[in-house]
Amino acid sequence: MEEPALEQPLEWDSPLFRQALTQLEQALPAAEIEESVAERLRFPERALMVSVPIRLDDDSVRVFAGYRVQHSTVLGPTKGGVRYDSEVSLGECAALAMWMTWKCALLRLPYGGAKGGVRCNARELSKAELQRLTRRYTTELIGAIGPDRDIPAPDMATNEQTMAWMMDTYSMQTGYVVPEIVTGKPVALGGSLFRHEATGAGVVMVIERACERLGWKLAEQRCVVQGFGNVGGIAASELHQKGAKVIAVSDISGGVHDAAGLDIPALHAYVEENGSLEGYDRCERITNEELLELPCDILVLAAREDQVTARNAHKVRAKLIAEGANGPTSNEADAILGEGGILVLPDILTNAGGVTVSYFEWVQDLGRLFWTRDEIRARLAEKLNDAFDRVWELAAEKEIPLRNAALVAAVREVAGALVARGIFP
Ligand code: NAD
Repeated sequence: MEEPALEQPLEWDSPLFRQALTQLEQALPAAEIEESVAERLRFPERALMVSVPIRLDDDSVRVFAGYRVQHSTVLGPTKGGVRYDSEVSLGECAALAMWMTWKCALLRLPYGGAKGGVRCNARELSKAELQRLTRRYTTELIGAIGPDRDIPAPDMATNEQTMAWMMDTYSMQTGYVVPEIVTGKPVALGGSLFRHEATGAGVVMVIERACERLGWKLAEQRCVVQGFGNVGGIAASELHQKGAKVIAVSDISGGVHDAAGLDIPALHAYVEENGSLEGYDRCERITNEELLELPCDILVLAAREDQVTARNAHKVRAKLIAEGANGPTSNEADAILGEGGILVLPDILTNAGGVTVSYFEWVQDLGRLFWTRDEIRARLAEKLNDAFDRVWELAAEKEIPLRNAALVAAVREVAGALVARGIFP
């Protein structure tokens, strides 16, 4: 008998999207939601692909591929980062958009998830080229984004300046100023205090809560941080300030290691001046692979997805992993780490500080009323601690890993709203 033809994979099918789908499937039994609801949530609502032509500084024209995927509008407008990276694809954006849905729902923010980006090597583009790229990408998305529709934010290789260009482009086309179109803007344009530090500081707030539950003292922990950008750089500083010993950090150029503890402010000053850790010679140099295998108490993964996989998971010698990046641990690695008794604080909880303060920024912009830094920090801690406690208790009650528990809690929030709204028409 002939085998049945395989169903044609959908356009956003990719290893990362399958990873997100597998995690959803693993959460479904404990989430106890209707199959019709689960079926809806397996698909992004909308996926947009655009081409972005720009004139380079040498006057030639180059066309880049741009994407925006909106996974769910069940709980509100969509929210998610924009990344400039050579690996950006529809499939990557779809996976990251789905994770954003769970993250927003877990934190009880009135949003669904989105993600977008442009496939490019941002380091090869000048500031003027990046500005033209951002303005054209924003214009291509103009009908799909909006303060009540989809609100972009920074992600890999995008920053406050990128958001300022997006906000200006959108405002110019609308005819009046719309600060609430993006979050992660400069404070001068309606950005929120503490947004810049929010993700990295949030990672450390979640680590602190976990330490409390585990009966550990944060100040006695030896920490390793992969990624020294917005998330990893701030997380390393926060850990350092709280007295923990940061023994290794790394970026795309490789890592640095000092068992006695690194001078984090000196490393920041070096990166500020030189652009990366490359050439820093005041301690031992290690590779990113070696960094992941260092014996330590807490390993913060704050670089990018797919860093701990079946290939290296059994070599990890940390006691606790905190996922500052999105999707840094593969599903196979998760199982290996679980068997080895290594606790993983999952991305949708651990790095949710960014989107939470983004939500605060949007609320402040809409109300034209701005809060103090201390107020924002306190509100963030309250939100993260509440989510952490719900996840921790659910994990204990159902005897499931924290990632599974975080997904179950998140999926239940979305499913409850979807059941109440029904499938249109
Ligand atoms: P970033 O561009 O500021 O920093 C990324 C850092 O990782 C850089 O130091 C880069 O050199 C390093 N890096 C890249 N590839 C690496 C590799 N293979 N090995 C080691 N280091 C590598 O980006 P970011 O905003 O800090 O984001 C990092 C991760 O956190 C991403 O997964 C992003 O989606 C996630 N995240 C960011 C935010 C935010 O608010 N910025 C919020 C939630 C999640």
